[in-house]
Amino acid sequence: MDLVLRCDTLPVAGQTLIAQSSSEFCGGKGANQAVAASLAGGNVAMLGAVGDDAFATRLVDNMKMHEVDCDGVQRFPEAASGLAVIAVDAVGQNSIMVVPGANSQLSTNSVQAAETRIKESDCLIMQLEIPSETILEGISIARRHGVRVVLDPAPAPAELIPSLLQVDLICPNETEATDLTQMPVTNTTEAKAAAKKLQALGAKNVVITMGSQGALLLQDDDATIVPAVPVDAIDTTAAGDAFAGALAVRWAQTGDLLNAVRFANAAGAIAASRTGAQNSIGTKQEIDVAMLRQAK
Ligand code: ADP
Repeated sequence: MDLVLRCDTLPVAGQTLIAQSSSEFCGGKGANQAVAASLAGGNVAMLGAVGDDAFATRLVDNMKMHEVDCDGVQRFPEAASGLAVIAVDAVGQNSIMVVPGANSQLSTNSVQAAETRIKESDCLIMQLEIPSETILEGISIARRHGVRVVLDPAPAPAELIPSLLQVDLICPNETEATDLTQMPVTNTTEAKAAAKKLQALGAKNVVITMGSQGALLLQDDDATIVPAVPVDAIDTTAAGDAFAGALAVRWAQTGDLLNAVRFANAAGAIAASRTGAQNSIGTKQEIDVAMLRQAK
């Protein structure tokens, strides 16, 4: 759950200040991407965890409302649901505290219990808001059954576990690509070099998202810059999640990764052109229309 507090200035140590407003939004990278994938036309099941607080039911109901199967979402007693407290000041700067809560209790056992569901899927997509061992177990189960694995390495990990990169597709943004490779990623030439390094480290395919510059796709030895869909960007929150969810679905459905990146660019552009997070994510129909505006 994202709890957003609007204030004139961000609080400093020891200060109490009166915020102007507070709003709650269902979030979390996994949940956002599950919703994005469902809206993009996927048949989606979520594996995840909530606590036993008041947010838990709302978080699960929200995913169900978006037709995400939540049988694999566990409720952990005495745990808090994952929470982000986001303070935003008058000029739009923010400071964020994240409580992983129940997400940190999602164990390898939980993934093993979902083996049949993973086996029956075309794609397993994961993010880094759950323990690394759990992700590695997901990678291993999916591989055993020939299911493609997509890793969105967000938020950027403090330390890189090399086996996390042994996936079919990794889709960092520029900052995450820099954190993973220790290389600068500020333009397409640098992105290409970083993508090659990620491939050398084990990722079969690499997509680096580059905001208004679109995305760089590296498949085997072929690097392609896929230009963004031009929009008036007003709030890029959740653009990355919209991109990742759409990418996984379209790739799973068509096996055509270049087409999937074009589709994902359109999904990211729609999210960037609307305010809000999950509520800014477009539907398959909207993405298909936006895709037609993409520069060739
Ligand atoms: P993140 O939100 O994770 O930092 P990006 O900013 O790279 O990720 O955005 C993800 C994708 O969303 C981009 O690859 C692009 O397709 C789309 N996008 C983001 N910002 C814009 C923009 N200003 N104009 C058009 N598309 C955008």
